[in-house]
Amino acid sequence: MHHGRCLCGSVAWTATGDAQLMSHCHCSRCRKTHGAPFATYFMVPVDGYAASGAEHVVRYESSPTFARSFCGVCGSVVPAGPWETWMMLPAGSSTTDPGLRPEAHIFVASKLPWHEITDDLPQHDAYPPGIPAAVLEDLPREAYDGGARGSCMCGEVAWVLEGPPTLARNCHCSRCRLARSAAHASNLMAPFDALRVTRGAEQIASYKIPDAQFFTQTFCRTCGGKTPRHDASRGIAVAPLACFDDDPGIRPEMHIFVGSKAPWFEITDALPQHAEGVPIR
Ligand SMILES: [Zn+2]
Ligand SMILES: [Zn+2]
Ligand SMILES: [Zn+2]
Repeated sequence: MHHGRCLCGSVAWTATGDAQLMSHCHCSRCRKTHGAPFATYFMVPVDGYAASGAEHVVRYESSPTFARSFCGVCGSVVPAGPWETWMMLPAGSSTTDPGLRPEAHIFVASKLPWHEITDDLPQHDAYPPGIPAAVLEDLPREAYDGGARGSCMCGEVAWVLEGPPTLARNCHCSRCRLARSAAHASNLMAPFDALRVTRGAEQIASYKIPDAQFFTQTFCRTCGGKTPRHDASRGIAVAPLACFDDDPGIRPEMHIFVGSKAPWFEITDALPQHAEGVPIR
């Protein structure tokens, strides 16, 4: 039996039957929905799939043929489908080891320019061979020189980084994995005033884990895309690196909470790894 859930627990699911085809997707829509450099999905037969909390699920049609779903309370991505006889499950939301391991990188042609793939898995520019689906254009970008811009998937929320960020990290803690429904979160931090929301501030929903001191997820109410948040108590802004449309000018410098890493994800880059957190400088 396979189990998964969103960060707040409003939406939960189980699946039985043969899980198949786990892959890392680098497409721009996955990156914006998940707020992660890539999303990892696998497929399970719809026959053995059951979910609770349907009343909390918000759907957003990210293309004419593909609707994405997220928890309207906490913003986590939740399973999508069915397509024919399959459901697509975000691996980062798994609370049990799905057993299978990633087989390929897909939509590598849309990869973040600063994200380097360091494993030996096959790489496909778009869908893996044999899937006869149309490939969408990447989300559009216009030239701008006022700072690195970011936006959610539907475009209702936008922001700009007007000063230098202070650090960026990949976090593998279970909260980040459930929040982003992905292998890990990749966030940058910047001084409070360095990051400005330029559009759609009223569209940003916020979910704070009740027993956490700081852990808060912010997301677009319409598309579920992850957004920056301002933390006045610490005087910082935190933003998902993967949701920038321009190069934010900083790269993750370390992996933290590797002790909580997903069993299906292997770190193959050379960045320092810390079992737990590392205080902010
Ligand atoms: Zn939730
Ligand atoms: Zn994708
Ligand atoms: Zn949006």
